[in-house]
Amino acid sequence: MKNNAFRGLIAGLACVGIAAAALVGCGTVDSAGTAAYTPGTYTAVGQGNFGDVEVSVTFSATKIVSITVGENSETSGLSDPALEGIPAAIVKGQTLAVDTVSGATHSSEAVLTAVADCVKQAGGDVEALKAKKGAKTAKGARIEKSVDVVVVGGGGAGLAAAVSAAQSGAKVVLIEKASALGGNTIRAGGAYNAVDPARQKAVKMTAPLLGDLKSFLDMDEKSFGEFGPTLATLKGQIRDYLASGSTALFDSVELHAIQTYLGGKRVDLEGHEIHGNLELVKTLTSGAPEALGWLESLGLTFRDEISTVLGALWPRTHGSTYHVGTGFISVLADNAAKLGVEIMLDTKADEVIVQKGRVVGVKATKADGASVVLKASKGVVMATGGYGANPEMRAKYNTYWPSMPLTMPTTNTANATGDGIVMGEKAGAKLIGMGFVQLMPSSHPVSGALSGGLWGSAESQVFVNKQGKRFVNEYAERDVLASAALKQTDGIFYIICDQDSAGNPQPGSKNGWGDDVDTLIKNHDVYKADTLAGLEQQIGMPAGSLQAEIAKYNGYIASGADPDFGKRNFGAPLVKPPFYATIRSPSVHHTMGGLAIDELARVLDASGKAIPGFYAAGEVTGGIHAGNRLGGNAIADIMVFGRIAGASAASSR
Ligand code: ADP
Repeated sequence: MKNNAFRGLIAGLACVGIAAAALVGCGTVDSAGTAAYTPGTYTAVGQGNFGDVEVSVTFSATKIVSITVGENSETSGLSDPALEGIPAAIVKGQTLAVDTVSGATHSSEAVLTAVADCVKQAGGDVEALKAKKGAKTAKGARIEKSVDVVVVGGGGAGLAAAVSAAQSGAKVVLIEKASALGGNTIRAGGAYNAVDPARQKAVKMTAPLLGDLKSFLDMDEKSFGEFGPTLATLKGQIRDYLASGSTALFDSVELHAIQTYLGGKRVDLEGHEIHGNLELVKTLTSGAPEALGWLESLGLTFRDEISTVLGALWPRTHGSTYHVGTGFISVLADNAAKLGVEIMLDTKADEVIVQKGRVVGVKATKADGASVVLKASKGVVMATGGYGANPEMRAKYNTYWPSMPLTMPTTNTANATGDGIVMGEKAGAKLIGMGFVQLMPSSHPVSGALSGGLWGSAESQVFVNKQGKRFVNEYAERDVLASAALKQTDGIFYIICDQDSAGNPQPGSKNGWGDDVDTLIKNHDVYKADTLAGLEQQIGMPAGSLQAEIAKYNGYIASGADPDFGKRNFGAPLVKPPFYATIRSPSVHHTMGGLAIDELARVLDASGKAIPGFYAAGEVTGGIHAGNRLGGNAIADIMVFGRIAGASAASSR
């Protein structure tokens, strides 16, 4: 959900009349020596994550009296602390030297820029306000609490753990270092993979999917190690399915498990092989449908349509009826509140407290510097997410990508700094799979964001490089796509759509992320033309290149075979104008490694033994997705294992 009209009057001070007569000349200083303005209300816009953020500022002759944030498309929940907190801090301190809100940097900057513009319009001194320190907040008093379960991290995994622990009767405190809940989960696409016969009934079993399915019959159990029996079961299911003559889509938790295993089985640059842990993968794939039902029981609603998110390999991707990942957070947060979970924002965990080999609590620090000690009689759940926004940590552990530049952008929030991995390791946890990082092949080349473009389900996407040439099977796994993309000129490629595969955008409409499509086109994040030749011209591709490539590709759809890259799963041919090209490049998306856990979400030590009182869930853990995670498996993972971690901690003695 977006802040389509977030209109709180932010400052507590009374608003003066609009455009009151000028009492003090522009840029002059009043008798008290404070900044002076031409009184009135001024409006300006700043560039947020999703277009313009409109801000109105009312000035008296000597003061910034009030700030109102108006029309904008920032993500509510995620951006509220910036849209509310920054104006309040500016008015309180009469200063522009206000820190951006972590996790909502762009929204914060949008407000600061717009207010600075208004100050300028009112004849104030922007530079002086930027240099002026606001009133220093006093350090808060030390906080100490004793509960049953402490959850660290307020993303999807942490909230699922908190709700589940509270449902099991535990008294729960959840701490979150940002000023808002959500983490990477709220900004994720929200794709959730689960076998779901009721919804999948509407999906056709196409010839390419059938081809994919039959290919499992040729695979040898012996080369699948501990996954051999799962493959054997799957082969039996496929044979039964073929014998039945059914035309409905085939799916099973074993197919999901084998695809997760194959999608994650990788060898790094040093020759080390990694694959998912059998028990964890089975828990994920069999638990995903159940956790979906659990979310529905909590009030989250899912759309009927099933798709294949990029890199998911099979049509079992669900989307909630909420905007991208926001529903998972808002519904869980509502339930946490109802169940009496105490949520402490702006509270950063620093250390896990271990006594006599048992994890008994967490030491933390509030944003105002207050120290916090939380004692947990039953357990601590670590759910701090990954380290995608910690370039040094990425570079330190990477053994998979030939290079992991510190400057590579990320889809992650700035808070994904690997804190839980560092704290967990100090508390004796084993780390697993740390050499592997998933790059999101199709991200914004500058911001690294997932949003900001137009495309449809994976089979309908067509990738071309700057020369207008395809370079990969667009239905492949994400690491395959990212690796191929990085080999193209400048690591840049374009997703080409026609009107239908772009989701049929109309002038003034928004894409699935809530981005204003006209703004995307204006900013050259998306190119739009009535013909493919027009796209070539706008982007600077060789004349005729894209036209020839798409004609060839449409021919492959007609024949059902792609001799260039072996794509088998196609969408409809690209024929309906206008045509769109979204510029993309890989960015750091999901850090695969983390704390080793078992299927009860207990954190394991170096010898594989569970550390009493210590649990973990979500991206902070490793071992499930191994070297590469299937698209759509992360949200399923955090809900399945978050829920398990909460219940395990609550039932611990
Ligand atoms: P997951 O998908 O595994 O739930 P998310 O990234 O969605 O991961 O959520 C992790 C959350 O943990 C984020 O909101 C992040 O701000 C929070 N976090 C990270 N480090 C700490 C810490 N040291 N203390 C408290 N919260 C933290």
